Amino acid sequence: MMITLPWHPTRATDRAVYHDDTGCSEAAAIEQQYRRPGMGGRPPCEDCARVLDTAMVGGSPMPVPPLPETRERGCPTCHGQQIAQAGHVMASRALIKVEYRCAVCGTAFLLVRSAFT
Ligand SMILES: [Zn+2]
Ligand SMILES: [Zn+2]
Repeated sequence: MMITLPWHPTRATDRAVYHDDTGCSEAAAIEQQYRRPGMGGRPPCEDCARVLDTAMVGGSPMPVPPLPETRERGCPTCHGQQIAQAGHVMASRALIKVEYRCAVCGTAFLLVRSAFT
């Protein structure tokens, strides 16, 4: 999903709306040659508008994928030992999760340890 400058389709068979998001499936189906920049005096496409709304409401447009978790002190991707704490400590009743980042491959992950040890 990426917000672009508004453009509108020129074919009579397409709906008379303008699109402004690359994640819109209707917009994606329209070939470059039928696209004209600008809103063309048309209302916005609901699909594009919806994407825009959720992007603005949530504050972060992309859902953050969950970080991989490991109990070993090392990078889960390259098994490197050059890891640095990246902030974010999450503690629940039984577990403490600390966000680390690998200095070698850049992978962010959570180091999980028991809160009782
Ligand atoms: Zn659209
Ligand atoms: Zn690594």
